[in-house]
Amino acid sequence: MRLWDYHTHNSRCNHAQGSIIDYVKSAINNYFIELGVSDHAPGDILPILPQYEKYKKYTMSMKDFHEYFKEVEILQEKFKNQINIRFSTEINFNSLNALKTQKKALKPYLDKFDYIIGAVHNIYWEGVDSWSINIPYQSTPVLEKYGANKINLQYYKMLKQMVKSDFIDIVAHFDNIKYLYRPNEPNYTDEVWQIIYDVMDLIEKNGKVVEINTSGILKGLSNPFPGDDIVKELIQRKIPLTLGSDAHKPEHVGFMFKDFIKKAKKWDLKYLCLFNKRELHPVKIT
Ligand SMILES: [Zn+2]
Ligand SMILES: [Zn+2]
Repeated sequence: MRLWDYHTHNSRCNHAQGSIIDYVKSAINNYFIELGVSDHAPGDILPILPQYEKYKKYTMSMKDFHEYFKEVEILQEKFKNQINIRFSTEINFNSLNALKTQKKALKPYLDKFDYIIGAVHNIYWEGVDSWSINIPYQSTPVLEKYGANKINLQYYKMLKQMVKSDFIDIVAHFDNIKYLYRPNEPNYTDEVWQIIYDVMDLIEKNGKVVEINTSGILKGLSNPFPGDDIVKELIQRKIPLTLGSDAHKPEHVGFMFKDFIKKAKKWDLKYLCLFNKRELHPVKIT
């Protein structure tokens, strides 16, 4: 079966290595049918609030977004006989208000995207400044002060808000919060599980797709995102899944996809899905 990778970054975001063409070549070397270029959406389109300031430097700016689009368009044409290149972006979800601003800024590209990925990377609540799940010096003090349960609940509450939006198609690294507990799997309370099931209900209701994000292993976790229990439940509910490595280096394109498929077949996974201009296409696993 020919696979694809729908979640890749490149040097435009200032924290990934290699140009888009390097990721395309890596996908071709893997004999992939498609590659999704999904670099981080510009941070400077977010409202001017101190909590958004810190991740501007980890994304391209809005004025570079057009060049990004053009670069993908040129490569789509150049490699069209070898691979389908899909155009996307990974939206950093903060709040419904911020999402409105993001949507407005990206409006000229809405008919260009093949799909949009939504992700929760940063958490905040009333009285606590936004902090990044993946930056230990920011997350450790909050975890020590407020404890795992409050943080887990807030993470899934934000995910729930994001999933309600019509702006995103794919939920990135569903249980990103487990990064805080690496290399262990999180120990969720019943209250957290309940909100996880609520998120799944909304995913079903709103027709979203969940990615199997294999970068979990590269980040020191024992599993991809999401973990086995969540994946089994998603399969049982027939929620469509797709594949994303979240590669920040060209050699990580397609990282451990075959291992996942082998495992998920035993859990009765029958289909994965592709996108074309925001339309979902199921693909039977062979
Ligand atoms: Zn992400
Ligand atoms: Zn990513």
